[in-house]
Amino acid sequence: RALVTAEAEGDERAVEAALRPRSLDEVIGQERVREQLSLVLEAARGRNRAPDHVLLSGPPGLGKTTLAMIIAAEMSSPLRLTSGPAITHAGDLAAILSGMNDGDVLFVDEIHRMSRPAEEMLYMAMEDFRVDVVIGKGPGATAIPLEIPPFTLVGATTRAGLLPSPLRDRFGFTAHLEFYEPADLDLIVRRSAGLLGVTLTDGGAGEIASRSRGTPRIANRLLRRVRDYAQVRADGTVTLEIAHRALDLYEVDQSGLDRLDRAVLDVLCRRFGGGPVGVSTLAVAVGEERETVEEVAEPFLVRSGLLARTPRGRVATPAAWQHLGLAVPSTAAF
Ligand code: ADP
Repeated sequence: RALVTAEAEGDERAVEAALRPRSLDEVIGQERVREQLSLVLEAARGRNRAPDHVLLSGPPGLGKTTLAMIIAAEMSSPLRLTSGPAITHAGDLAAILSGMNDGDVLFVDEIHRMSRPAEEMLYMAMEDFRVDVVIGKGPGATAIPLEIPPFTLVGATTRAGLLPSPLRDRFGFTAHLEFYEPADLDLIVRRSAGLLGVTLTDGGAGEIASRSRGTPRIANRLLRRVRDYAQVRADGTVTLEIAHRALDLYEVDQSGLDRLDRAVLDVLCRRFGGGPVGVSTLAVAVGEERETVEEVAEPFLVRSGLLARTPRGRVATPAAWQHLGLAVPSTAAF
């Protein structure tokens, strides 16, 4: 499944580091976010102050970590990285905050997964640049106020809706990252190929871009697999033909669907007449856990307009039948 998941797999983060844009000018696409952010940063630089806290929201693999690193780089400030799940106790956060220097940037990935007490400590730190460190327990406990130098928090979340509003309200600027247009992905693939020293034709770049689900992380990953194929089975150049053959071998189709995505559609159309059918039944039929179908396959199928979730169950859209090369039945449930 690793090929088209939007989350980073295993040690992929290390491979990705080489491909990250290092400045706002190098970032491809997301024009609005880039312009807004550049204004925020330039104004802060002009005032010689740490910029307002920034919230980056959007699906995985679209560049949140990259932007956090760029914010620090553009402010010439050190970046500290942590994540919501890593901060289980308020004390963990207090330790991080007390080590901050004036102007540092703190990146908290998956900020919606922070524990409640840590979250509450963070409100105060964001607003007043101080925290209360509680020493001891019960009636004898005392709160020791601790000043923190002004810093910039950059939070990233895939689920902005899950953030409690007191936290959301304390960000001075929120950027929503959208899935990338094919033309932008095309540029990203070309840029990455350049950095990796891969020769790529226009057709090769386009083919990888169009199968990448609007996600730079997936585009970069497909590029690496196609590069392997080009190197081993051809002369190293990624052409349309080579990209096509390689991605067929890896079972990523023209629309970016993988084997599981297609199996779900196939069962839905061929066995259940296009639905409606319950997700558990669908999962059994493809031999997967319900969660896998629901969380891994469905979101992209829904986004691609191939599957609809209805109160009575999952339904294949006319586009799903067409995708499978089947005639669209007149009696189907849509
Ligand atoms: P996220 O934190 O949202 O999961 P990352 O910032 O880790 O995503 O980005 C994943 C990969 O995609 C990185 O290797 C990065 O270089 C690349 N990438 C993301 N956005 C862009 C972009 N706008 N231009 C070029 N490369 C990008």
